[in-house]
Amino acid sequence: MKSTIRNIISTADWTAENLEKLLALRGEEQKELLGMGGETLLNKRGNEVYYRGLVEFSNVCTKDCYYCGIRKSNRNTERYDLSDDAILEAARFAHEHKYGSLVLQSGERDDPAFVERIDQLLKKIKSETNGELGITLSLGEQSAETYRRWFESGAHRYLLRIETSDESLYHQLHPNDEKHDFKKRLQCLRDLQKAGYQTGTGVMIGVPGQTLKHLAADLLFMKNFDIDMVGMGPYIEHEETPLYVKKNQLWPLQERFLTSLNMVALLRLMMPDINIAATTAMQTIDPVGREKAMQAGANVIMPNITPSNQRRNYLLYQNKPCTDEGADDCSNCLSIRLEMIGRVPGYDQWGDSEHFFRRT
Ligand code: SAM
Ligand code: SF4
Repeated sequence: MKSTIRNIISTADWTAENLEKLLALRGEEQKELLGMGGETLLNKRGNEVYYRGLVEFSNVCTKDCYYCGIRKSNRNTERYDLSDDAILEAARFAHEHKYGSLVLQSGERDDPAFVERIDQLLKKIKSETNGELGITLSLGEQSAETYRRWFESGAHRYLLRIETSDESLYHQLHPNDEKHDFKKRLQCLRDLQKAGYQTGTGVMIGVPGQTLKHLAADLLFMKNFDIDMVGMGPYIEHEETPLYVKKNQLWPLQERFLTSLNMVALLRLMMPDINIAATTAMQTIDPVGREKAMQAGANVIMPNITPSNQRRNYLLYQNKPCTDEGADDCSNCLSIRLEMIGRVPGYDQWGDSEHFFRRT
């Protein structure tokens, strides 16, 4: 690696220009950068990987994000909403398999019945698992009051990707109305921090119109926002979405993947104490994409424990992996995958973000 690049990393000289340069690294220099990300993780956080059992409990959504396969206007998606019993069953599965935490994710809804339902579910999950299961929510934009209410009922982490920190690009990826407002999304992230959550965000990597400059700014955004956890991964196209018409502007898949790895490694170097997820979208491009993300600095994995008969309907993008497998298959397959890269599952632990405790 050239000495200037080493110098940037060793002096933590995280300017936008430097980050842009580092994001473009490929070949031997990239290998070295990824190795440095992985090493920083092992030195600062150890080799445990924390499990969050992911329950994609409903694909009903009131929003119309241009990139997402389950957007409201996609009439070809068969909509589903799991029963409370099925969600509780999945929570019990996570608890019994020592996953430590659960992520409840769905399309965005904010009607009072939905808010109340989540509130009751949180209380039930807490009581059925003796308060032992950590709960992360990923239910989109809600009022500050709703965030507070769900926090009091037992959720303690929340994931809300900013998708891109560039307001103008954000507007190219979403309809231009008050339901898809960049400033509101930012406000939601502030509300989450204020309500006491470990707050997670992230971006899609390689969306049409995005450049390395945008991604360098995204890294600085996450650092400046003092974010506690991050889930980010490559954008994967879906034919039944408006963004698909920009097919001629697509980044090559391999570029999206390699840039995603650099994003993980750089963020780990910039923020050693946060949690970073190895996302499913990484595995969509490369069969061992999540393992590569972990070797570059990711320390969280989100095994899908959604009952498999509904998994194929939560298709944010095409060729999403593991849509045919049951939760047990995922569980066995994952521990073997971790072992192969010398990492160990952080069983029975919440695996909280250390950054959160320094920040608060
Ligand atoms: N509805 C909630 C929200 O949007 O925050 C949570 C569920 S949403 C499906 C979770 C994430 O999926 C989004 O934040 C977005 O980054 C990601 N996603 C959606 N469509 C995608 C695509 N085509 N490729 C990659 N990621 C995608
Ligand atoms: Fe709905 Fe989330 Fe998909 Fe946007 S990304 S359409 S809010 S599920």
